[in-house]
Amino acid sequence: MIGSGHNGLVCANYLAAAGWKVLVVERRGVIGGAVCTEEMFGGYKIDIGSSVHLMIHHTPIIKDLRLADFGLEYIEMDPWASFPLENGKTLSFYRDLGRTCESIRQVSISDAAAYERFIHSWGPVTEGVFKVFQEPPTLAAFGRHVILAKSPGEGTIDGLKQIMMGYGRLLRETFESSEMRAALGWLAAQSGPPPSEPGGGPFAGWHAAVHKFGAKRARGGSGMLSVALGRAIEASGGEIVTDAPVERIIVEQNGKASGIILQSGEVIYAKKIVSACHIVTTFKTLLLEADLTPEMGRQISALNIGNGFGMTVRCAADALPDYGGGTPAEMHNGMQLLCPTLDYLVQAHGDYAGGTPSKQPAVLAMTFSAIDPTLAPPGKHVVQLWSQYFPYQRSDGRFWDDAAREEAAESILQTLYKYAPNMRKAITAKHIQSPLDLERTLGLLHGNVMHLEMSLDQMFAMRPLPDLANYRSPIGGLYLTGASMHPGGGVFGASGRSTARVMIGDGRG
Ligand SMILES: Cc1cc2nc3c(=O)[nH]c(=O)nc-3n(C[C@H](O)[C@H](O)[C@H](O)COP(=O)(O)OP(=O)(O)OC[C@H]3O[C@@H](n4cnc5c(N)ncnc54)[C@H](O)[C@@H]3O)c2cc1C
Repeated sequence: MIGSGHNGLVCANYLAAAGWKVLVVERRGVIGGAVCTEEMFGGYKIDIGSSVHLMIHHTPIIKDLRLADFGLEYIEMDPWASFPLENGKTLSFYRDLGRTCESIRQVSISDAAAYERFIHSWGPVTEGVFKVFQEPPTLAAFGRHVILAKSPGEGTIDGLKQIMMGYGRLLRETFESSEMRAALGWLAAQSGPPPSEPGGGPFAGWHAAVHKFGAKRARGGSGMLSVALGRAIEASGGEIVTDAPVERIIVEQNGKASGIILQSGEVIYAKKIVSACHIVTTFKTLLLEADLTPEMGRQISALNIGNGFGMTVRCAADALPDYGGGTPAEMHNGMQLLCPTLDYLVQAHGDYAGGTPSKQPAVLAMTFSAIDPTLAPPGKHVVQLWSQYFPYQRSDGRFWDDAAREEAAESILQTLYKYAPNMRKAITAKHIQSPLDLERTLGLLHGNVMHLEMSLDQMFAMRPLPDLANYRSPIGGLYLTGASMHPGGGVFGASGRSTARVMIGDGRG
């Protein structure tokens, strides 16, 4: 297994459980890729990639691999997201739909009813999408589980229309209040595509699933998922080696992969090899040009990696943000949506589309020390800010040097201060991750946290390419897994599990 992202670890676990002898080789000194937590600033546990675990709870992975036995414990985030209102109150999204609708009534009685209808009508579609996400993708499965899944009494064409439209339009058509449009728009934007992107409707509709499965935090930080996956591999007899960047995959004259060469020069032979890192890294760095047909090389070069889209500021703090309602508040349990209107989000994306950082970025604030005191020293807090939009390649002639990242971080902090002025004095240390930092540290090319753009043309049976969508590569014995593959990015593990199933089906020989 090349790379110890959580998908690689999930895949390795299923293979080990099936009796395969597995070895995971990771370039960094710690495992987990973008699901990793590191200690910083003397006693603060900081996520260096993901923080919120949603999709993995739709899968049987945690149970199948008995991850609780290996130290994984989840804390429910409830409310899972909140939008601060001007009167110091909050519009909150709870796991319980009725309670959420009650909260929405503060901003619009009609939107409370509309949200209930929205969640009920998107429920079957979202369930269908998650079924498709957990199998190798085919267009037939997409049609069966998604397009034909609209709830009884509603036309399938209407359902298809909502799937096909951008979530900006969908939210404007569905909700009258600016608060609901902004809150759901900013949540939908987390996957990358902007509000106007055709086929983006499901990015807003998937909230139906959060009401069903909840949003959760791994106690001790996001990386505890990877730690538990690593322990499970070792308990099954597998081996993990860190600080071991792979230089090349060995392809024999007969077109079959037979092993890997590490940067240290060590050669390791294996019957089967899985690359769990970025698809472009696999094909353009680990394989030689001669290993691919010119056409495959061309198609890989043409993949839409995108231009990054977000960056982070991770802070140690003496206090939780006070959004007007005092601290601690219920909203500290989940994601805090600091994006005043949908138009603000559209404008922020407009700056980025022109190649410059958003002048007024949208911010997602997370304060998990409020529900998990193990993250910070007593009385202190971890305040993590994810913000959009920040292009990797900029049109203003600047690159992500120290001054540029400090300036961008300051614009993110200023957004937080507008909502929570107490944070001006409360932040004691910060760790900034520009799109370039994400690329350098985590191997996320262009800083795209989803590896490749999650645009409709690169999803389902087209991710990453129609010819590679079934987790097999054109090189015998070389398989592919991770966010570059179906179903894409996020903490999910579905691609790792599906790759293992395909491999086990193909046999060990
Ligand atoms: C800042 C940030 C915030 C995020 N927030 C969330 C969130 O809250 N919720 C959510 O669901 N998702 C979130 N995501 C997205 C999610 O974390 C990723 O999409 C997902 O973790 C990708 O997992 P993966 O297994 O595909 O691969 P990766 O995590 O990309 O792992 C690939 C691994 O391969 C290794 N590798 C690369 N090259 C080599 C080599 N040559 N030799 C050996 N090893 C190599 C890398 O070091 C890495 O460990 C976030 C991501 C980031 C970066």
